[in-house]
Amino acid sequence: AIEFKDVEKRFGKTTVLENLNFTVAPGERVTLIGPSGSGKTTILRLVMTLEELTGGYIFIDGRPLTFEDRDGKRVELPKKTTRAMTTRIGMVFQQFNLFPNMTVIENIIEAPIHVLGKSKDEAVADAKSLLERVGLSEKADEHPTRLSGGQQQRVAIARALAMSPEILLLDEVTSALDPELVGDVLAVLRDIAETTDITMLLVTHEMQFAREVSDRVMMFDGGLVLEEGPPDLIFNDPSHERTRSFLSSVL
Ligand code: ATP
Repeated sequence: AIEFKDVEKRFGKTTVLENLNFTVAPGERVTLIGPSGSGKTTILRLVMTLEELTGGYIFIDGRPLTFEDRDGKRVELPKKTTRAMTTRIGMVFQQFNLFPNMTVIENIIEAPIHVLGKSKDEAVADAKSLLERVGLSEKADEHPTRLSGGQQQRVAIARALAMSPEILLLDEVTSALDPELVGDVLAVLRDIAETTDITMLLVTHEMQFAREVSDRVMMFDGGLVLEEGPPDLIFNDPSHERTRSFLSSVL
């Protein structure tokens, strides 16, 4: 589970998130929607410890990513500790972020070998079955630059899955793709949603996709959860005017 408790995030004097509280239950699929700049990416980056909190707590399976010492001062946990906690969290970015100097299969086996301590044979066998799952078996030995954006993104998804994540964070994974490449990437994600119990927290502008895979949709605005609920309710009958105007701008 992911739990945000009174989370605050400031960049200098700009407060991006304020008193943010929400929980994503194990196995739940939650989609974050909201206008550009409302802090959706920041939320995912905080979970991944790519950003540091400026207030409040984030708990992963009940364990805080930070703690308070005796003086009530918030302290970041040692990098080693947070890394151990985030090993089972996978993140896929808008811009793929594959290692360009490695082949597709090398990209996928890197972390299972160096972080999980898998043998190379085992990591390669697992990577091959993941490549088959994302429909890219024949691209194992290519370099990412030789692949289309959609193919690169499917490799990035396979790379995240290779760590057997309990939590998958997806940050607008189709936004950088040409429209004709979006469908294949969404099909892979739909398959993951249907065949695994991985907890998923995603940011997307693909509302049809969000409707299909989400248990819950959270609408953000001004650093706060404006409203949340099952996709049918949020998409068909939102209570806030802000949500209505946001939806009409993206649908
Ligand atoms: P988008 O849909 O455009 O990606 P978002 O809802 O994901 O938007 P964030 O990327 O989380 O929004 O950004 C929220 C706010 O925080 C923005 O105003 C952004 O300018 C600011 N911000 C994000 N990262 C930094 C940073 N490293 N330094 C300063 N400000 C930042």
